[in-house]
This record gives sequence, structure tokens and C-alpha cells, in this order.
Amino acid sequence: MKVKVAISGYGTIGKRVADAIKLQPDMELVGIAKTKPDYFAFLAYKSNIDVFAVDGSEKNFEDANFPYKGSLSELLSKADIVIDTSPGGMGKNNKTLYEKQGLKMIFQGGEDADIAEVSFVAQVNYNSALGKNVVRVVSCNTTGLARIIYPLHENFKIKEAKVILIRRAADPKETKKGPINCIKPDFRIPSHHAFDLKTIIPDIDIVSIAYVVPTTLMHVHTLMVKLSRNVTQDDIISILKENPRTLVVSKSMGFSDTAQLIEFARDLGRKRNDLYEVAVWEESIFVDGAWVYLIYAVHQEAIVVPENIDAVRSMFELKSQEESMKITDNSLGIGNIFFK
Ligand code: NAD
Repeated sequence: MKVKVAISGYGTIGKRVADAIKLQPDMELVGIAKTKPDYFAFLAYKSNIDVFAVDGSEKNFEDANFPYKGSLSELLSKADIVIDTSPGGMGKNNKTLYEKQGLKMIFQGGEDADIAEVSFVAQVNYNSALGKNVVRVVSCNTTGLARIIYPLHENFKIKEAKVILIRRAADPKETKKGPINCIKPDFRIPSHHAFDLKTIIPDIDIVSIAYVVPTTLMHVHTLMVKLSRNVTQDDIISILKENPRTLVVSKSMGFSDTAQLIEFARDLGRKRNDLYEVAVWEESIFVDGAWVYLIYAVHQEAIVVPENIDAVRSMFELKSQEESMKITDNSLGIGNIFFK
């Protein structure tokens, strides 16, 4: 039996998660819901996805003669779980509707952590979401941070961590967002990312400082951690290489910036040039006794996609953490990218 998945909201994240669901052997996409019959809705229709109208927006679809299949409520009645990928902050309004249908639900990082029973990153706390009804996949920045911090903490016990996050201003399609010509510091120190990370790894001592810069491709983080013992650069590289969702890249291979990473994903043939992996620059890994410094990049549009898939498997207790991540990774082409 396949888990029937509905997607509510079909933008940057929703369209990617929908495509990923279609690739899973144990899941079925029953449809997506949108407020507007825009080109996203048209493209969903063209790829044989059933399109539904968010309740109250049916007239938009009628007026456009769009062949939609009904309301979001009707979509929900066909599903076992809904993945809410509506704009940040809107999920909490949608939750009442989902609850009425008695559905399991997944929210995204734009919602407050208290919307869900568990905040989730597959590699860190897959087992905490087992059998749960409401799960929140954390934001792109927190997912990237967690994927790097967690193995270091597990293997070497982090005593303290500092991270500087250089955040992309907008996604490529978001032409109304900015800034387009400044560097915008977030004056709250720690920024909200430190608190968000603690929803996944509670015992971490971390301070985060964030800036927004005029780029749309990726975020870049500089992480500084003090471990409980001295390590070598090789120790760090080998730990990071153990996780297929972390890619150790190097300047010597031509990866000198975020544009090169996105070009790589494009040439790999990844749909929408999605880089699901966190990309750590090998040359940036600097070790000074117990202090480790490193720089990595996060493709904000893609990184949470595998996490949403694993969250479904955990909530329905379909597979173990290792099995689920392996199925997800195989379906998305994650792993074994470089020579050993
Ligand atoms: P988006 O604006 O690209 O897409 C939102 C979609 O929701 C649109 O299709 C819109 O038509 C639809 N929508 C609007 N109102 C709705 C409603 N009431 N009910 C259902 N759908 C509705 O947004 P996004 O960037 O995909 O972000 C979705 C969530 O994912 C947010 O919580 C965001 O914080 C989080 N997230 C975004 C990124 C990113 O880089 N874009 C990364 C990680 C997490």
C-alpha cells in the first residue's frame, strides 16, 4: 500500500517535493492545491498532476477555464498526509482545515516550531518523528547547519560553535524581494538560526550571526566549532564524507563559488539544477588544535526536499532511518557523485 500524499501550496518547495514524491516506490501524489491558476499550476497540469483550488479560490480557476479537480478540502479527503508548502506563516491558518480531515501533516521552516510535535532533519532525528502526526521540516539554513554540526557533535562533542550565515536575498523567481544593492545585517545576535538549530540538537552551544546579500543562488555559511579534543583536517573530511547528503568539493576541481556549484548541478542533469547536498569546500577546512573552521554552501530551493520525503516515511513508520534515507537518495541521484 502506498501512502497518499497531498501538497498544499505549489511554489519553490512544493513543486520540488511533488516531483520527489512521484519518484518514491511507497508514496503516491494525489494532487496539489494552489490559490492561483498561474504558470506553476499549468506546469503541474502538463505533468499529469491533479490540480485543486485552495478553498475559496475556486473562482480564479473557473474564470481561467483551468481544468482543476475540486477544492483543497476534496483533495485532503483523498490523502493520508498533507505536506504544507504554502508561504511561510500561512501553515498555521491551514492547520485547522487539515485537522478537520484527521490527516497527518508536515509543515516547513517558515512556520514557528510550536506548530508541530517535532522539528525534523532526517540525519539527526528521524526516530523522533516515528508515528508522529505533525512534523516541521526546518528551514534551508537550519537543515544545512544541522547536517554539518551533527556529525561533528556526534564524533567529537562540540563544546561551542559560532556560525556566520550569508543568506541569499531571494529565490530566482522572486523579483519583488531584495535587497538588490546592499548587505543587510540581522542585528539580532544570535539570529533565529541558533534557536532553530536547538529544536533539532538541543544540547548545542551556538551563536549565529546572519546577513542577507544580493544573490539568488545559494546561502554560504562560515562555521567555527571548538571540539572536546584536537583533530586533524583528515578527521573532519572523512566524517563529512560519510554522509551522502554532504558533498566535499574543492577549488582544485573548479568549485570556486556558488555559481560553479549550481552549474555542476545543472550539468549533472538535476531537474531545476537542484543541489540537495550541502557543499563543503575542502580547502576551507582549517584546524587549529580543537578549533575547526569551514565554509559550505546551501542550495535553499533544494536542500529540504529529501527531508520532506523521509519525514513521510518516519511518520508512517515505513522504514528505518537508514533504509528511508537510502531510498530517498537513490530516487534523487544523491550519493556516489565523485570518485572515492
Ligand atoms: P512560494 O511562495 O514559492 O510558494 C507558495 C505556494 O503556496 C504558492 O504556490 C502559492 O500559490 C501557494 N499558496 C498561497 N496561499 C496558500 C494557502 N492559503 N494555502 C495553500 N497554498 C497557498 O513559497 P516557498 O518558497 O516554496 O516556501 C514555502 C515554505 O517553505 C515556507 O514555509 C518557506 O519558509 C519554506 N522554505 C522555503 C525555502 C526557499 O528557499 N524558498 C527553503 C526552505 C524552506
